[in-house]
Amino acid sequence: MTASLAIQDHIAIITINNPPVNGLGHATRTAISEHLRAAENNSDAIAIVLTGTGKVFSGGADIKEFGTDKTYAEPSLPSLLVQMDACNKPIIAALNGVCMGGGLELALACHYRVATSAIQIALPEVKLGLLPGAGGTQRLPRLVDMETCLDMICSGRSYYSDQLVETKLFDAFVSIGAQLLQTTIDFANKVATVRPIPRVRDLIANQTITPETFATARENLQKKSKHLPAPFACVDALEASVKLDFDLGIQTERQLFQQLLQSPESRALRHIFMAERAAGKIADIDASTPLRAVNSVAILGAGTMGTGIAMNFANAGFPVRLLDLQEDSLTRGLARVREQYQAAVKKGKLTQNECEERCNLIVGVQSYSDIAQVDLVIEAVFEDLAVKKSVFEQLDQTMKAGAILASNTSTLDLNEIAMVTKRPQDVIGLHFFSPANIMELLEVVRTKHTATDVLATCFSLAKKIKKTAIIAGVCDGFIGNRMLEQYTKQAAFLLEEGCTPQQVDHAIEAFGFAMGPFRMNDLAGNDISWAIRKRRIAANSNAIYSKLGDRLCEMGRFGQKTQAGWYDYQANDRTAYSSDIVNQMIRSHARELGVPQRQISDEEIVQRLVLALANEGRKILRDGIAARASDIDLVYLKGYGFPAHRGGPMYFAESLGWEKVDQLLQQFQQGHQGQTWIL
Ligand code: NAD
Repeated sequence: MTASLAIQDHIAIITINNPPVNGLGHATRTAISEHLRAAENNSDAIAIVLTGTGKVFSGGADIKEFGTDKTYAEPSLPSLLVQMDACNKPIIAALNGVCMGGGLELALACHYRVATSAIQIALPEVKLGLLPGAGGTQRLPRLVDMETCLDMICSGRSYYSDQLVETKLFDAFVSIGAQLLQTTIDFANKVATVRPIPRVRDLIANQTITPETFATARENLQKKSKHLPAPFACVDALEASVKLDFDLGIQTERQLFQQLLQSPESRALRHIFMAERAAGKIADIDASTPLRAVNSVAILGAGTMGTGIAMNFANAGFPVRLLDLQEDSLTRGLARVREQYQAAVKKGKLTQNECEERCNLIVGVQSYSDIAQVDLVIEAVFEDLAVKKSVFEQLDQTMKAGAILASNTSTLDLNEIAMVTKRPQDVIGLHFFSPANIMELLEVVRTKHTATDVLATCFSLAKKIKKTAIIAGVCDGFIGNRMLEQYTKQAAFLLEEGCTPQQVDHAIEAFGFAMGPFRMNDLAGNDISWAIRKRRIAANSNAIYSKLGDRLCEMGRFGQKTQAGWYDYQANDRTAYSSDIVNQMIRSHARELGVPQRQISDEEIVQRLVLALANEGRKILRDGIAARASDIDLVYLKGYGFPAHRGGPMYFAESLGWEKVDQLLQQFQQGHQGQTWIL
């Protein structure tokens, strides 16, 4: 049974027991409903306590039932709450732990709530493009002030029970969790005979609002989440709680919920939710795969990436040795670490003590013998195969047996690097993204030789340092950068066919990307992609690419750092201004090539760019570089600013249908002299 019933001191105790999060799946709802009925009919029970096992009251919907008929099968959650409203004995929630989503809605339909301190309280449905659809938007404002309701429901943010202790949400509060059940039983005995039984639905929704409350909330959302319908629907539902009676408010909430459920944004966000759950699954690894102990870390190279990676581990409490052979690079690197932590103190994100603790965890060293005993070493030295090979030879000679040897290379052949050591099974790629202490993505690159325990250990470690780890195979650029090359190529081809940089950037930014490809390249430095292009052309002289980026660099326009790139810039100003010189250069280059010029719609720009990503993603899957399409979507979401409400490039292509995608790709290449650069 996923919920049990017991009688103690004349109180019926219903305990939800559906690990891991006491999800309210169909079986659990049925069990609660039947136990409620039994408790009502049991003359020995004068009141009912509803609680959960372990550290969770209820985490809400059961994700195993997501999208199946069972989600809405009777008793549905709304019907169960109606049954609770009508119960002839008081129901008291004993909130023993996490109380989220449907779990909080269940608690709100109880007649009283007793909570323990430090438990998480949330209505996170908006994160899936939905709103709380079982009365949450109507009951919460009857107990909690509207400002908090708006924040909690529109952002989906978690609160701790202690933050809500001043509200009417809790009728009693216990600071030590162990006393909760007995306190609730005593409370139940006290209120058992109180009639009428107080129901949240009978209260008047919070009136502490001004005429501007909802307008201001909508204005704020316009700035933060203008692409998303769900937060706006949350405001509508909350407004209904003060303007309509309870039943009409519930009806409004239901209608809004149904609309959101069908919205493309919610479908995409639910796809991402499932993608995140699938991401850690690797065919030949399971819970029985042994893990290596990792308690200390060394980073090689105190440059941009090395210092960011070091901060990552220090943030999670790991002692880090940062090794750089150049004394001045090491000094600069350590100073950069301190500067960044100090900036976090200034912003109030860290205390001065925490700043000192983290700085002290990162110790600069200059000799390999100083790192020999650490459990994991990650090299982030120059991107040069000869340099990396010599570093790995050194590591092989110095590091203790069983240490994991990782590389942060973006492009180099890790199979080859592993083979310079006598322990290729211990070598793995850990590809962080810049800035490494902030970006959530980590591509974990498995070579032909990587041992399963090394792989499993790195996935487990990724969680500790709060990264989303995605498994990738060895190829130039792994998943993300290999796809990015096709995206960048398309962006330049669009210029050759008639677009301006601002038109391309504008179209993809309106689609939801944080930054278009040209503004992005100006920020990263056009000279960096120029150097990579030169290397690739040297390796494959048949490669098809637009020479516009080369022309730009030949003009010395490297981007923001030279105050001139695809756009013009002014000193100390990151605003991108349209550049006449660049636009003329693009047009004359296109004339020289003889590419027919035409007006290109924003829709085509978006499809060209996103399908260039998806097309390469499909090849990556065929080559066995990525484990699943949803992993590729996560790479783009977490590492490249792809808008979450669009679900990712593979999801975008799958929603169009691959047949249609192929038709479009054929059609697009007609415009560019029929060159076969896309399929
Ligand atoms: P960087 O030039 O900023 O830093 C490299 C550092 O390595 C320098 O401080 C240098 O003194 C040090 N170094 C060189 N040889 C060394 C050796 N033998 N032993 C110890 N230290 C040595 O470079 P970066 O941008 O931090 O890139 C480092 C690695 O990370 C490269 O492989 C790069 O491809 C990869 N990477 C970079 C980015 C990025 O956006 N910069 C993103 C992902 C991965």
